[in-house]
Amino acid sequence: MDCIKRAMLFEGKAIVDVLETTDIVQKAIDYHHLSDDAAVALGKLLTLGAFISSGFKFKGNKLTLIMQGMGKGGKLVVCADTGAKVRGYMENPNAEGSVEEIVGKNGYLNIIKDFGLKEPYNGLSEIVCGNIDLDFAYYFTKSEQLPSAISLGVKVKDGKCLMSSGVIVQPMPNCTDDIKFILSDAVSQLKDVAALVEERGSQGFLEYYFGHFQMQQLEDVHPVYECSCSDERIMGMLKTLGKKDVYDIIAKEGKIEVSCQFCSKKYSYKEEDISKIFDE
Ligand SMILES: [Zn+2]
Repeated sequence: MDCIKRAMLFEGKAIVDVLETTDIVQKAIDYHHLSDDAAVALGKLLTLGAFISSGFKFKGNKLTLIMQGMGKGGKLVVCADTGAKVRGYMENPNAEGSVEEIVGKNGYLNIIKDFGLKEPYNGLSEIVCGNIDLDFAYYFTKSEQLPSAISLGVKVKDGKCLMSSGVIVQPMPNCTDDIKFILSDAVSQLKDVAALVEERGSQGFLEYYFGHFQMQQLEDVHPVYECSCSDERIMGMLKTLGKKDVYDIIAKEGKIEVSCQFCSKKYSYKEEDISKIFDE
């Protein structure tokens, strides 16, 4: 089962998260028939979606992450709800190459957090190198004043996710520069996180690499790949297409079929279903 292990370090001056998201990445591969390389890129973004949404405090909070760097994979999108319920897709699931090539670096990373207030928080950050780890570290440092150390690792072979994991360290406001330095140095040593977590398990990894930093472990979170699509949502989307376009399709095809971008579930509507949404 996927898991996020979290601990406070140095009497709460920093927080470390060790994430295991192998099942989530496998679901993404199964839904979207991702190439192995594409799965590594989307897997990293899904892992960050799980991380950020695991920190949401209230039910109904929503996260959207969009990376549009003009790379081979096109646009990558991840959405998540409170409690680390994530889902995602990318424009070109067949893309091959390094994560940098798939994401590209000519564009922006967009982070939208919707806490049910009037305006959602909308953060825009440059993609600095396209490897995702550094792009988010840059975002957290510049936009949220949280100089974060991030190392993610996803191993995929022949359509099977062997391991997807990551380690993220973030300082708290009372963190000293010395502690920030020690921790970012510790994370920078962890070159192949997937292999290290595979070797020790996420609990063993956490204890081995961070146990000596006055560690105080918090409760685990279990992230999942979960889609929130429903008739209501799909019909809402059809409504935005406009009455004329929708009725044109029905006139031609006898029905309108939509499949969910995140989970490939198919929705099919006939004229009588559609008349409900436009004639209300
Ligand atoms: Zn869906």
